[in-house]
Amino acid sequence: MSAQPEGPTTARRVAPPGGRHDSVMEFAEASETARVTESGRPPCGSTPPPQALCRPAFATSPLAMAVVDRGGVIVGANDAARALLCGAEDSGGLVGRDADDVLDLHSDARTADAYREILRGRQARLSRTRRLKHPSGHSIWLRVTVSPLPDAEAVLLSLSDITAHRGLQDRLHHLELHDPLTRLPNRSLFFERVSAALEAGPYEGSGTYEGATGRVGLCLLDIDGFKAVNDSLGHPVGDRLLVAVAERLTHCADRAHGATGAPLVARLGGDEFALLVEESTGTEQLAELARAVLDALREPFDLAGHRVSVSASIGVVERQITGTSTTALMQAADTTLYWAKADGKGRWTFFDPERNAHRMTRQTLSSSLRPAVERGEFALEYQPLVEMADGGLRGVEALVRWRHPQFGLLSPNRFIGLAEEDGSIVQLGRWVLRTACAQARRWQVEHPEVPPVFVSVNVAVRQMWDSDLVADVAQTLAETGLPPELLQLELIESAVMGTAGRPLRALQALSDMGVRIAIDDFGTGYSNLAYLSRLPVSVLKLDGAFVRGFRAEEGAPAEPADEVIVEALVQLAHRLGITVTAECVETTEQADRLRRIGCDTGQGWLYSRPVAADRISGLLAAERG
Ligand code: C2E
Ligand code: MG
Ligand code: MG
Repeated sequence: MSAQPEGPTTARRVAPPGGRHDSVMEFAEASETARVTESGRPPCGSTPPPQALCRPAFATSPLAMAVVDRGGVIVGANDAARALLCGAEDSGGLVGRDADDVLDLHSDARTADAYREILRGRQARLSRTRRLKHPSGHSIWLRVTVSPLPDAEAVLLSLSDITAHRGLQDRLHHLELHDPLTRLPNRSLFFERVSAALEAGPYEGSGTYEGATGRVGLCLLDIDGFKAVNDSLGHPVGDRLLVAVAERLTHCADRAHGATGAPLVARLGGDEFALLVEESTGTEQLAELARAVLDALREPFDLAGHRVSVSASIGVVERQITGTSTTALMQAADTTLYWAKADGKGRWTFFDPERNAHRMTRQTLSSSLRPAVERGEFALEYQPLVEMADGGLRGVEALVRWRHPQFGLLSPNRFIGLAEEDGSIVQLGRWVLRTACAQARRWQVEHPEVPPVFVSVNVAVRQMWDSDLVADVAQTLAETGLPPELLQLELIESAVMGTAGRPLRALQALSDMGVRIAIDDFGTGYSNLAYLSRLPVSVLKLDGAFVRGFRAEEGAPAEPADEVIVEALVQLAHRLGITVTAECVETTEQADRLRRIGCDTGQGWLYSRPVAADRISGLLAAERG
């Protein structure tokens, strides 16, 4: 028996009959049979020609060599080659065997191709490192060099045993890839394994093996308050803590041993650890692992007489291998870990593409806002404003949405702030005003038999300063034909507080025109009614927080404070000639209380969510009937 490739082997080829060149045969015979005398010299009485010395030189060379014919069959091998590749009990030798089988020259396509080319005399040289199983059981590392023999239909195999060198290399490699403190795989090895896991997929067709899920999962963990342990108890105790955490993580990983082995535990640096689950089965598997890890770390640590309790935050990502990269996976895990910390630490959090998109898209959104207005990517929805006394439809609030080609339907909270920052709110605000007024006029014209509904349009602070709002409104009303009393403008308190000069004159001019001014989200800012009474404000929109305060637990007494405040606010507003609209009315109990308190109008899911314009047309048609 001779050495076996440690990788898979293919069926042995049969050497082509007559495939050997005569001179090769001769050399082969010489090499397997040629022996020098005990003295190491050729027999006395003759001085062999230098050429003839080649045979004994080949046979006795300490460098392992073999000659292979063009058919790939070993036709000669020296003692060193036999010693290297054959077991002690091996009587068959190497001659007659296929070299590529013996030396594993066919397991990877590139080597197999190059080897074939050399045999055909079309390539100069080939060098490869191979790991083989020696018949005595141990592994050997060989450097195999294949070079053509000039003027012969054969190639020469030179083999050097680099096992010792590789052993040293492996040990160095191990040191390079492991953390000396915890002995866990380090960042480099972890990244290597993640990359390998991602390269393994996708498994399709014949590449599929049983249990392959084509998915990967990752827990990225950071010890909460590790710095405090280091600072208060000293670095040696901090180090002990890291070692103890590493042990508990390894224990968790061992217990979570799955089809593809235990998750890989690594220390990525500082107090950051990671667990990699190859071939994960889904989010639940990762959630279970994260839970087990948090449980395991909850037990206090006994560190050189110090009892230390810590918690950890974990970012968890689980996804398909297809379409992801090491960078994307690690970034997602990083972001998720940050969320776990931000959400209060001592917890695990799943990667949420929505939440991530929010973070990622801020910049993208802001850069595409302006062109989006021109491309007509915005749309308005309208939410009914209902008379509390009789439930009748009095008006609608126009609420803008962005039909983003990439991110889908975006709510205004995602982009109004950005639009204010970069000034595109002026252009967008004009579009909203024009669209809402045109729509309100259409309802008025199309439903003459019912009292016309007014439209309430949100105006951002920057619109007050950066554009001529009065001129815009006047022009829009003129163009659409909407009577000014059917337009209400919603401004937040800060837009009108301390107002002097231009914004105040604008408010006054709008009010003089007959347009109603409402203070939006009232109660979240200064809430200075006395001041507001001096401005041309006709409506207060009470912030949803007040109404939410009404939502008492079942059976428990209602939170009276909010009710008292709201009641006082409503009375005061009424005395100042201001009407009150309650936002976020979601339940009939809230509506009942608001009605008792004297609120004029209500808006909220109890009545209707924001809807498309034609739904409002439907409501108007129904009112007539
Ligand atoms: P807002 O002016 O206070 O509008 C009311 C918000 O409360 C709307 O959210 C509406 O969908 C939501 N809402 C209505 N009823 C309920 C309810 O019963 N419960 C709860 N929880 N929420 C309810 P939306 O449409 O996301 O608008 C958010 C904010 O975006 C608006 O708050 C407004 O400040 C701003 N916005 C919307 N459209 C425009 C616009 O055209 N221009 C400007 N400058 N801002 C706008
Ligand atoms: Mg509003
Ligand atoms: Mg509001």
